[in-house]
Amino acid sequence: MKKKINLLIIASIVGLIALSIIQGYLINNTYKLKKDAFITETRRSISQIDDFSPALDSLSDIWQDNFLNTVSDYKVNIATRSDILDGLQLVIDSINETYRTEYQKELVKNNIPYGIKFHKKIKAIILLDSIKNDTVFDFAKTPKRIILGDPISEENAIGVSTTLWQTDHTSTKVVNGENKDILFYLMFQTQDEMDIAGWKKIVFKRMLGLLLLSLLIFSIVIGLLYYSIKSLITQKRIADIKTDFVNNITHELKTPLATLTLATKMLKNEDIKTQPQLVDNTINTIERQNKRLQKLIDQVLNNSLGYNEIRLHKESVNIEQYINTILDDFLLSVKTENITLNRKFLGSKNSINLDKFYTTTALLNILENAVKYAGDDISIDCNIDSQTDLQISIKDNGIGISDKDQKQVFDKFYRAGNKEIHDVKGLGLGLYYTNQIIKAHNGHIDVKSKNGKGTTFTLTIPFN
Ligand code: ADP
Repeated sequence: MKKKINLLIIASIVGLIALSIIQGYLINNTYKLKKDAFITETRRSISQIDDFSPALDSLSDIWQDNFLNTVSDYKVNIATRSDILDGLQLVIDSINETYRTEYQKELVKNNIPYGIKFHKKIKAIILLDSIKNDTVFDFAKTPKRIILGDPISEENAIGVSTTLWQTDHTSTKVVNGENKDILFYLMFQTQDEMDIAGWKKIVFKRMLGLLLLSLLIFSIVIGLLYYSIKSLITQKRIADIKTDFVNNITHELKTPLATLTLATKMLKNEDIKTQPQLVDNTINTIERQNKRLQKLIDQVLNNSLGYNEIRLHKESVNIEQYINTILDDFLLSVKTENITLNRKFLGSKNSINLDKFYTTTALLNILENAVKYAGDDISIDCNIDSQTDLQISIKDNGIGISDKDQKQVFDKFYRAGNKEIHDVKGLGLGLYYTNQIIKAHNGHIDVKSKNGKGTTFTLTIPFN
């Protein structure tokens, strides 16, 4: 059974881990999908700005005209390749501030609610004519960043689109007093990039509902699992306790029953009739065993009562007198001489209202246990304090109770797990019943103990 429970716990934990991994994988996928959807949506809005803004268009005209002019100079050898690039950089620098301001205005006009940085990065400039292809600039080979718009770091840059400006250019230039026709085909490639401020937060916000829901479901699953395993363990503990109880009671019943069988057999024997003394003795044995059986049954029936089933008949008793009588009677009933019982009375109150019958049972249960679970020399200290509540503490020098068992000794049918106690008869009902009796008096009972170092039970009963 224990093996089965352990297996079940391991299987549940493995299942839970597998479920967490799948859940994590699904959440990660959803995150990626949401991120892609958000970026695509932003990309679409951004593309519209670039296509339909007249202000940005006229700024583009400025740098493009300037650029074409320098390229024409290059074609007639007035300018070099680096002049083209430097000139481009210069004109971009001169309009960049205005470009950025206009771009931000367009973002507001298009109701885009997030902070966006945008730029065009020049990737390639290629000139074609009837003779050759002339690559003026290739970003892949020369990583010079010529950028129109906001500066964005490489790791934050999100691609918007690649644009290609293609134009057939024809013009005439006067070189050394001669008119020269300039003809070329231009391919100008740019990469549009953006950076959305706090996009991770935005995507996370969009996923918040899903995250919270899965967290909730997950907590419920863990909670249910925990609850099921806990109930399973409790059920197992109760089943064990019941089995122990059945074994204990069977063991307790066996001895008197065997004696009764023997006694009946003896009485049936014809020879015994001639020995009246032996008949008397056998009848006494039957009576004793009968009483023992009766006591055992009463113990099971009565000692199983809960505190709210106990009907108290309270009366005023003199504390010192009442407890002294119990202790004296107890000493008389103990069948050993190696016992010392010290008593100490403290406090100002003389009397208390309690049910004498039940309280006596409770105190005797504790005192009898002090003898049952003792070593060779028994020493019991009783301290009775009546200052605030009536506190009766009974300390013994016996085998003690482990920390784990202390939590359970007041449970019905519970017997501690020490090896030593298997030789001691008991049903595990005494402390349960004692606790119920004290509870019925609105009091409480505490235990302090250490394995092998004796035990102290303190019964507290309030005065009113
Ligand atoms: P029982 O004595 O019939 O087993 P109790 O309910 O009286 O049942 O006690 C419950 C368990 O608590 C005992 O089985 C024993 O293990 C432990 N116990 C009780 N009193 C003492 C004590 N004075 N010293 C050590 N162990 C004790």
